[in-house]
Amino acid sequence: DDEQPDGKNSAVGSGGSLANRLQRPRVAGLKRSISRVSNNNNNQQKQLSDTSEEVDERLKNIDPRMVEMIESEILTSTQHVTWDDIAGLGQAKRAVHMAVIYPLLKPELFRGIRAPPKGLLLFGPPGTGKTLIGKCIASQSGATFFNISASSLTSKWIGEGEKMVRALFAVARVRQPTVIFIDEIDSLLTQRTDGEQEATRRIKTEFLVQLDGCGTSADDRIILLGATNRPQELDEAARRRFPKRLYVPLPDLSGRRAIISNLLRAQKHSLTEPQLAEIGVRTQGYSGADMDTLCREAAYGPLRTITDFAAASEDDVRAIAFEDFEFALTQVKPSVGERDLEIHIAFNKLYGMSA
Ligand code: ADP
Repeated sequence: DDEQPDGKNSAVGSGGSLANRLQRPRVAGLKRSISRVSNNNNNQQKQLSDTSEEVDERLKNIDPRMVEMIESEILTSTQHVTWDDIAGLGQAKRAVHMAVIYPLLKPELFRGIRAPPKGLLLFGPPGTGKTLIGKCIASQSGATFFNISASSLTSKWIGEGEKMVRALFAVARVRQPTVIFIDEIDSLLTQRTDGEQEATRRIKTEFLVQLDGCGTSADDRIILLGATNRPQELDEAARRRFPKRLYVPLPDLSGRRAIISNLLRAQKHSLTEPQLAEIGVRTQGYSGADMDTLCREAAYGPLRTITDFAAASEDDVRAIAFEDFEFALTQVKPSVGERDLEIHIAFNKLYGMSA
């Protein structure tokens, strides 16, 4: 939902992504080994197999075409995102470090009862930075990162979805450590409805089977990161599968100010500190995504006063001013309703965790 037009975020599906380039030789190797394993009934030779062939065993029942599809559509190495790019959310960031980043960095410190949770749920209103956190984990952890949107599982791969889910988890095991980020997780975990297509129902069932299988081996280093705007739709069984649940709230005053400052950093502007503070106060209730829209709208202000675009140069564009924000505030309204917010706050009280 936040793909950028310049394609910076769009490692998903782009054949030339870093991940693709890095992973390609290995997948080629996997495929060779798959055919070798399936053509090879000689036990003695199997015994001689090295670790990489043992790894390949896990893919022996998987269609190599699927492995390829997963490689090009799901395996991602997103652009460079740092924790500083995410304004506010200090508590969520700390919790993500403890649950995901440090265990990947120092697995030996997270053994036994300190084993990290297999599933981490990020919930909160839309546009608050859940996907951004996922991308940052990908960028910072060095783990293989799978980025899946639940709706693409049930729409794009209709007919093949079930097999695809199986292949996905198999590849995730082979490529450990792996972080599997699933957006709109609620649609995969919610109760099956009567009108649902058979294919969708089967995808959901397979997904649950794989999800439950994920935590069975203590040595598996696969972390499931689910994101949802509708946590209230998750039933008890679904919540159990995500033992760690983190609230990603609307940005507070300092978070909103940080987002404005970040976005204005590379722009010519004339806003004073008190004016920035005032915008911060007047954007109470705006999500991170709303702040982004507001700043972009304000940044257009100086262009509106240009009458002759053909003759205009960059020097003719005046600095972004407070008035531009005043106008933008009349155009861009908070997208998250009071009622929606109450639902998240209530869910957080009941099921959320802060560390
Ligand atoms: P969601 O919670 O719906 O997954 P995203 O992470 O996709 O939201 O956020 C959408 C966009 O809003 C981001 O790409 C970013 O531009 C902006 N944004 C949201 N939250 C933050 C934040 N905490 N800090 C900086 N930018 C943010």
